[in-house]
Parts: sequence; structure tokens; C-alpha cells
Amino acid sequence: MKGTIINIQKYSIHDGPGIRTTVFFKGCPLNCWWCHNPESQHLEPEVMYWEEKCTACGNCIKHCPKGALSIVDGKLKYNSESCELCSECSKYCINEARVIKGKYISVDELFKEIMKDQVFYDESNGGVTFSGGEPLIQADFLREVMKKCKRMDIHTTIDTCGYVSWDKFEKIVDYTDLFLYDLKHMNSDKHKIYTSVPNELILDNLKKLSDLGKNIYIRMPIIPGVNDDIEDLKKAAELLKNLNIIQVNLLPYHKMGMDKYKRLNMDLKLQEIQEPSHAKMNELSEIFKNVGLKVKIGG
Ligand code: SF4
Ligand code: SF4
Repeated sequence: MKGTIINIQKYSIHDGPGIRTTVFFKGCPLNCWWCHNPESQHLEPEVMYWEEKCTACGNCIKHCPKGALSIVDGKLKYNSESCELCSECSKYCINEARVIKGKYISVDELFKEIMKDQVFYDESNGGVTFSGGEPLIQADFLREVMKKCKRMDIHTTIDTCGYVSWDKFEKIVDYTDLFLYDLKHMNSDKHKIYTSVPNELILDNLKKLSDLGKNIYIRMPIIPGVNDDIEDLKKAAELLKNLNIIQVNLLPYHKMGMDKYKRLNMDLKLQEIQEPSHAKMNELSEIFKNVGLKVKIGG
């Protein structure tokens, strides 16, 4: 069995307790306007292109089996409809202007990579975090990796958007020590506008995890003008105070990574948004503290 991942990040300290290995899965059912990892949205590997590195030498064109590349007006032109993601162009680009994002990996290969840092997990009470994208899209693959991790007593965390059918949660719930659960908007209509899906399934799954007594950290990105309305956040606090939540993390919007949209030939819907001020973040965190929840600003 193989899964599709983008990256394996070592020595992570913001994705759960201790020192962790974070595995970024590819594929996500949401399409958030502020997504900092647009390369994780599609399940299949894809091409990223750095125009400023490209000298229009044409070497990639010679090796493209599908005729997806050409030079037009002195610039490299890419036809994504013809491209079959064979990655030949990236192999032959000495300037690293074309890079394939995403690779297929077997359960054993991924587990072996996770196990390389077992000594750090043991010393720091860390472990492995499965993030993305949405790791539960590949629930069968994830389950097999997690089973192996639990056999070795490695702490496991899943970072999820929550928008998958409950049967996918059932596949991994017994092997998961901690959920990092995203909550993006309490208003379902606005949730649909900004993420492409409504929020009922997300809230329903959250309640089910809470009823099972699972360890849950809530992660809320704060995007000015999108989901920082005081009344909406009060509704979130009211909901969460009655659930089994360890901590709420408020994650201020930042602009890093937004140039990836251009490199992936994708539209960036969120323009000209400023990062929220410290004062605003403190004001919002009070809403959650006021109902007795533990709050942290940042990951
Ligand atoms: S091989 Fe690299 S530098 Fe040359 S045209 Fe292709 S992408 Fe540009
Ligand atoms: S990934 Fe393959 S098919 Fe696509 S542009 Fe590159 S060489 Fe051509």
C-alpha cells in the first residue's frame, strides 16, 4: 500500500508535544482562501515553477514526453492539461526552476523514516504528527503506519480539518494520542464561501471525538475580515467549553508562502489582507479564557 506525501519534516516543535517528525500528506477536501500549503491540496504530485530561476534554456522541453512545454516570447510556457506529471522536466532543469511536489511512499518506507528519530521522541516525550493537506483522506494508509508506530509506543498526533466521513476517523481513532482539530468558521454559509465546504460535518465529528474522550487541541486560524468577528468567536467559545478540549490555539494569519500560488499556476483569492495585531489576538484570546478554556496564541 502506498500513500502520497509532500514532505517529512524533522525536529518539529509546534505540532504536538516534544520533538516530533511531521509528515505532510497530500490531498485536502477544503480549499481555504488563506491556505499556506496550496501544494498540499491536490492528491496527486504536481509541478511547482520558479519563473525567476528559469533561463528559458529549453532543456526541459526536449525531455517532456507530452509536449506540455514550449518557449513563447522568450518565456517557458506550460500546458498543465497535457502534463502527465512524469517529473522528467525537473530532472533535467539544472536551475531547479521546475520541481515536482509530492511523492508516493510505502507504509514501510514511511515508518522507517519516522523511526530514525526515535531517540529524540524518547528524550523529549515527542513523537510523530500526521498533517497535510488532510491525512485522513488516506485513512487506510495512515492506519497501517499508525499501527506500526503504536507497536513501538510512539506518541501519535493527527492534524485534521475534520471534513471526512466518520468511518475514516474510526479507522485511526484507537491509534491516535492527540488530535489537532481545525475550526475555521462557526457560520456554515461563510465556512462554505471561504473553504468550499460547510461546517456541519466538522462540528459533528468534533463532538464524536470529544464524546470518546480523545485528547483534542483546537486550532483556529485568525484571518482579519474573514473569521475574526467577535460574535462568531463567542459562539465558538460557547461550543468548545462544553466539549472535552485541552487547549485552543489561535493562529494569526501570516503571508509567508503565498507566492506558492503563482508557482503552482493557482489563483490566490485572498489579497491585501494584513496580519492581525498582537492587541487583536489578545482581545480574541480573552473570549476563550472567559469561558474557562486554556488558550495559546500561535502553534
Ligand atoms: S530546463 Fe529549467 S531553466 Fe531551462 S527552460 Fe526548462 S525550466 Fe527553464
Ligand atoms: S512533468 Fe513530464 S509531462 Fe509534465 S511538463 Fe514535466 S516533463 Fe512534461
